[in-house]
Amino acid sequence: MTILTKEARPAAPDSRARETQATIASVSDQDFYVTRTYGVFHIPARPSSEACALLVVTPRTDALDLGDNHRFPFTISARDIAEDIIQDLEQHGIFVCAAERPSEEELASAREVRDAWFRQLIAEADEMWARGHSYREISDMHRRAVMFMKLEREWAYVPQRSVECPACGEQLRAGVAICKHCKAVLDPERAAKFFPNGPRDKSVPALHAPAAQTAAPHAPSAHAHSAPVSNAPGTHASPPPRKP
Ligand SMILES: [Zn+2]
Repeated sequence: MTILTKEARPAAPDSRARETQATIASVSDQDFYVTRTYGVFHIPARPSSEACALLVVTPRTDALDLGDNHRFPFTISARDIAEDIIQDLEQHGIFVCAAERPSEEELASAREVRDAWFRQLIAEADEMWARGHSYREISDMHRRAVMFMKLEREWAYVPQRSVECPACGEQLRAGVAICKHCKAVLDPERAAKFFPNGPRDKSVPALHAPAAQTAAPHAPSAHAHSAPVSNAPGTHASPPPRKP
């Protein structure tokens, strides 16, 4: 059974007033549901127009199981509940306000905590990615951190179905016309369409290439659409698959 570690002490009479409620503030853009023996709590995501989201908690009653069907009911103060709920969530920028409402200083410090944690997650994912370029190790939290910090990372994109190049064995996105590693032609029809003079050809495509199909999902494809298609030497074909 669960025994809370820091509750059950009777509230001193003079502290009772401030313990009738406690306010949890969150600067996270994520919702959290926290389940305890004494209840389920929802810490809402911060609305984009607000500095934080708030959750006010009040005292609850719980009971200690003493065995032999003996239960010892007791009241947990609002502040103890709040402190208990936010365990493990502080890195998201969630805290118990000292007063009824969070102060500017508390909010600024929570944002710092959150951003520092996001930066740590990004550094961690960078390191994992450098080791093996494996999407498997990248969690939603890592992706969320990159999105939130408005950064660009190769590993942050949802992995696509990948295939093995039959010629060199490297992993490729499904559907590519030419292997970016060994230049083997995997889809002759599309390869001929986009690279009429062979896979190493740097001249423009012969047709109005539907560049979005071949461009990497996050590669800017606008220039491919707007580039005039001509046979003038020196202009470049639609972007080749990204370098690893
Ligand atoms: Zn290959």
